Amino acid sequence: MSATKILLSEKEMPTRWYNIQADMPNLPKPPLNPVTKQPVGPEDLSAIFPMELIKQEVTRERWIDIPEEVQEIYHLWRPSPVMRAKQLEKALDTPAKIYFKYEGVSPAGSHKLNTAVPQAYFNMKEGIMRLATETGAGQWGVALSQACNFFGMKCLVYMVKVSYHQKPYRRSMMQIFGSNVVASPSELTEAGRKILADNPESPGSLGIAISEAVEDAAKRDDTNYALGSVLNHVLLHQTVIGLEAKEQLAKDDVYPDIVIACCGGGSNFGGMAFPFVYDKLTKGTNVRLIAAEPSACPTLTRGHFGYDYGDVAGLTPLLWMYTLGTDFMPPGIHSGGLRYHGDSPLVSQLLHDGIIEAKSFNQTSVFNAAVLFAKCMGIVPAPESSHAIQCAIEEALAAKEAGEAKTIIFNLSGHGFLDLPSYDSFMAGKLIDYPLPEEELKQSLARLPQI
Ligand SMILES: *Cc1c(COP(=O)(O)O)cnc(C)c1O
Repeated sequence: MSATKILLSEKEMPTRWYNIQADMPNLPKPPLNPVTKQPVGPEDLSAIFPMELIKQEVTRERWIDIPEEVQEIYHLWRPSPVMRAKQLEKALDTPAKIYFKYEGVSPAGSHKLNTAVPQAYFNMKEGIMRLATETGAGQWGVALSQACNFFGMKCLVYMVKVSYHQKPYRRSMMQIFGSNVVASPSELTEAGRKILADNPESPGSLGIAISEAVEDAAKRDDTNYALGSVLNHVLLHQTVIGLEAKEQLAKDDVYPDIVIACCGGGSNFGGMAFPFVYDKLTKGTNVRLIAAEPSACPTLTRGHFGYDYGDVAGLTPLLWMYTLGTDFMPPGIHSGGLRYHGDSPLVSQLLHDGIIEAKSFNQTSVFNAAVLFAKCMGIVPAPESSHAIQCAIEEALAAKEAGEAKTIIFNLSGHGFLDLPSYDSFMAGKLIDYPLPEEELKQSLARLPQI
């Protein structure tokens, strides 16, 4: 690596995270203790999180320094590139300029390592050397396994059973980095045993796996819990993406009209969008922020705004967010990373206040966009990220219709090299769309906790 490259990297990469809680006109209502239904205090959370992350969860300080040890590991892949998708513009014959930020260059293959590293680090600093977590399709499990490995920590991953069998290579990745990977529901926890007693064939879900990991961490003094999305501190860490992208665009004197990211639990969207929301809130900059989600799991576009649990067993605090209900079983779409019933309280509040927008997309349109993008740019995108691609394509075509030279940037949150079986299904014509039936949504929402 040349010296100039290193100097350039260090200059471009942010050294502070941006905390949007400093600037939001309305903060989300506080999380509630699941038993007492009173606002949770730091002592409620200290059984499973280190103090530093608890502080980051609630602070209203605008800028938070990134510790040097974390920056050093970020430099393994940061700054990640911003590229102009000229070939895609040409294929669409649009006057719009389309840029993308590429987080697939991280060793984990997705943006999730941006928070896995600081989460492992702050636990290690407080003497916790074992973390328990859950993973759906496996991206978060891989990221946390790598991060724990960097700091010499142990990692136990409850992996949703259906993915455990369908995504064997992500499991191998976690095992390479020394993690113990367990199919969830498992016999290791009360939550898991209860589900198995009711249904020995349960394929598992993210909500069940979260219950297992939280229970594991709560029961053991040497173990904390780590969550890959949804919580404020997770979104905080991910703001390196948007801060960095803004700097990179500014070098070319570019500022976007539209910023797009896919949204499951909201950390990818928050990470990309919040630094631009900052401009909108504090400088009145006119920029549209769009969260792209699956129509099979339409939390932001059709969910209910209110309190709900983060997991199936009701062990987590009640969060103030858009939700489809914890009993909601998203169909087996190929974007495993977007199959969560709830969403980040910060993202939810901003949507409710009309500061950001959300749109939903069917998976066949998403895979069409993914293949077009791959053919133009040579990168096979993750199915999750492809929701942002489809959204960008629609905006670029709308710009063409209106004859406007809009500038669009989207975050390509990860590559799809371990999702090739999904592409196989798509090419074989086997993918179907699952727009959520209104009746099913009503039934799930009828079971929301009464607060
Ligand atoms: C997990 C994941 C997402 C969704 O992230 P959230 O932050 O939960 O919205 C998007 N893209 C990729 C590649 C992922 O792995």
